[in-house]
Amino acid sequence: MIAKCDDDIIGMRKAGEITGLTLKMIANEIKPGISTLYLDKLINSFIIEHGAKPSFLNYSGFPASACISVNETVVHGIPSDNIVLKEGDIVSVDVGACFNGYHGDAARTFPVGKISNEKQKLIDVTKQCFFEGINALKIGERLGLLMNAVQSYAEKNGFSVVRELVGHGIGKHLHENPNVPNYGLKNEGIIVPKNIFLAVEPMINLGRREIYIEDDGWTIKTRDGKPSAHYENTIFVSENGVEILTI
Ligand code: MG
Repeated sequence: MIAKCDDDIIGMRKAGEITGLTLKMIANEIKPGISTLYLDKLINSFIIEHGAKPSFLNYSGFPASACISVNETVVHGIPSDNIVLKEGDIVSVDVGACFNGYHGDAARTFPVGKISNEKQKLIDVTKQCFFEGINALKIGERLGLLMNAVQSYAEKNGFSVVRELVGHGIGKHLHENPNVPNYGLKNEGIIVPKNIFLAVEPMINLGRREIYIEDDGWTIKTRDGKPSAHYENTIFVSENGVEILTI
């Protein structure tokens, strides 16, 4: 969405704030022995208590309030009683909150207890990919500056970029144009307009980039079974720079 009035900006800031707070809350709940369904229940309650609605619940039939994806699950993991976190796992939590008709969307990958150095590097590089991307972003220039910066940073660190899933415009709908790929050339993509809201979300694999979808139609996993991380924020791009709405 391109902001057309102050109300658009105010609404998106509030939706983003609730989304960011939800992730801060859940960060303190991640520990060995708890199920991803338990985390989802906490997220559902928290968003509703803050006067918003979980954007993901029933979105295209998604059955939960958050996507919770463990280790080799890239994204869109369905919370379940049967998926119990254990020491050494990494878990990606992706949430959206809709406030007054405006959506926020953000994700983090968290360590469960003590994790390997390799998994920690994957989490750190994925987060930094987001910042490399937004630092390269310029109004009036191609979105490819962001796309290329994300890809270059991931690959420079020996990791691979998921291609089939991309970031997106966001606003009164959870997913809007344009697509925001995490790969590409600097001269590709749209010319970045001012006052646009985007969800920028690198999905980075420790091994190869190929993925597949499980039989449930949602859960996306790496083909090689190696871990994957996700880091996402909703941002507002204006002449004042990039404002991160979900931190
Ligand atoms: Mg998103």
